[in-house]
Amino acid sequence: MQISRQFISIDNNKEKIKSFLLDAMFKPRLSLIEWSKITKQTPSFKIGYPVQHLASLITGVEGGRSGARGDDLEDGSEVKGCNRVDQVDNCKECKSKVLRLETSCPKCGSENIKRMDDSKWLITVKSEDELNLSLNLIPRFVFVILYYPFLKESNFDSVKIEAFEIWPQYSHKFRKLIENYYFNIYLEHIKKNPKKTPAPQNFWPFSFQFYLSMPVKVFDCNVLNINSKPEVNINSYLEPYEVRSLDNCELMPVNILKKEEIKQYSFEGKDFLNKNDIDKIDLRDTQKAVPHKKKYQRIKAKN
Ligand SMILES: [Zn+2]
Repeated sequence: MQISRQFISIDNNKEKIKSFLLDAMFKPRLSLIEWSKITKQTPSFKIGYPVQHLASLITGVEGGRSGARGDDLEDGSEVKGCNRVDQVDNCKECKSKVLRLETSCPKCGSENIKRMDDSKWLITVKSEDELNLSLNLIPRFVFVILYYPFLKESNFDSVKIEAFEIWPQYSHKFRKLIENYYFNIYLEHIKKNPKKTPAPQNFWPFSFQFYLSMPVKVFDCNVLNINSKPEVNINSYLEPYEVRSLDNCELMPVNILKKEEIKQYSFEGKDFLNKNDIDKIDLRDTQKAVPHKKKYQRIKAKN
């Protein structure tokens, strides 16, 4: 898995990434924080476009300009963003909305607040053409996530940004997941309720499905002191010219497997699984596509 050199046109990437994160995202957010004290609106930056910029800087590939599906980057890659920074939270007592930087509920004063951390990537496949696009024509999906690594400790001062690549031609289980979504979920919903557009496929970061798809991490950084003096520290970066290998896919924590799966695959005593281990794991029954013969054939979803 390697990006064609003809598409790589952005250099000095690390420096550009750092500048972009500070100048286009985290410094503007600082002034939004000040304004949000008055407006009580979230200081959240809209994620769509910043993530596209970031994906270009990380991969070294310019945007595809057309804005069409499968044309986020010039090499045909699709970019997906997930932003867990500045999600709006909920008061557990009175159910009011609470902003991320508010320490208690503005309505009832309770400090019993549910901090939301459920943003995910969305994959849409609405036709056979789009299925073909996702499986065979898009060389690579670039998944970017921004999240608080210390959310459990209510530490909202540092953010982690990671980018992963999944190349559908090489990731067999990712292909199966997409096929399953289209045939068993999308078409099933259309069949039952033709006027309603079915929800897109949720692709949860750090889930069973995520690890099974063998994502390769290409970028990892921490942004510290985001609410006062943002500072970017890049932890790891795979340069645009470097070969991506499934051997370096994300290690799967054993504890996200079910007990019976750990036993079935003899993973007892292990904490993390490498590519060879992950290869042995099958998708769960609900995630397997039933083979299809003809268009819009009714397929009973397994549960
Ligand atoms: Zn409340």
